[in-house]
Amino acid sequence: MFLVDTHAHLDDPQFADLAAVLERAHDAGVMQIVCVATDRASSCRVVQIAEGFPGVFAAVGIHPTVCHQAQEKDWERIQELTRSPRVVALGETGLDRYWDEGTIGVQEFFFQRHLELSQQTGLPVVIHMRDCAADIERVLGQAAATGPLRGVMHSYSGDWRLAKRCLEWGLHISFSGMVTYKKNEWLREVARQVPDDRLLVETDAPYLPPEPQRGRRPNEPALLVHTAECLARVRNVSVAELADQTARNARQLFRLPDICPVSNSSSQ
Ligand SMILES: [Zn+2]
Repeated sequence: MFLVDTHAHLDDPQFADLAAVLERAHDAGVMQIVCVATDRASSCRVVQIAEGFPGVFAAVGIHPTVCHQAQEKDWERIQELTRSPRVVALGETGLDRYWDEGTIGVQEFFFQRHLELSQQTGLPVVIHMRDCAADIERVLGQAAATGPLRGVMHSYSGDWRLAKRCLEWGLHISFSGMVTYKKNEWLREVARQVPDDRLLVETDAPYLPPEPQRGRRPNEPALLVHTAECLARVRNVSVAELADQTARNARQLFRLPDICPVSNSSSQ
């Protein structure tokens, strides 16, 4: 089985022993990981991590909950980093009214910048959405009017109506451990309907551990299989089929090389 974790924060201090984390991921069948940044410093770190491990790739950008602190030179650095061959995406970006309503204007400004840069560079954009479905729909609709969109609605938690709009705009939909939580039957119903060729899986590690690990430990890429199993059950396919399909989708969206071990320990 070959899984791709399309969203993990491997630069989090909880993953200080990264070689061990990646070894466990490899043992669990997670062969490629997109390591997603949250600000300028984190963007530099994820590129470094991706340079050190052949199965890890970087997404660089500024998260909506911290973009009000960003300086112009931070954005310039993000643009420079996109020239690294290890950078496969922009983000994470998006909007978040849960943490801070007051910064929504500057969030939208940065979200648009990421979308424009995505359209210029062809790099897909990683989109975060929390308590702001209407704003997301409006901004994406405006961007889609200026050119094709390429990217992923990460850790999707919206309804099917918005998911359908995002699919029409060409975006992929990614599900995290949230889809495994008992009360989220409605989200499993959304996940059931996403077309095969637009579905992705992710951990969002160290956040959102899937059932049955929820509340017990930090999340990590090795736990992705629980979310894959849940999605396979919901969509009435085998885990192997689900893994194959979503890995193919991830490789296509992020233009990842065909096969490459996530941990470089085997090559040493
Ligand atoms: Zn994230």
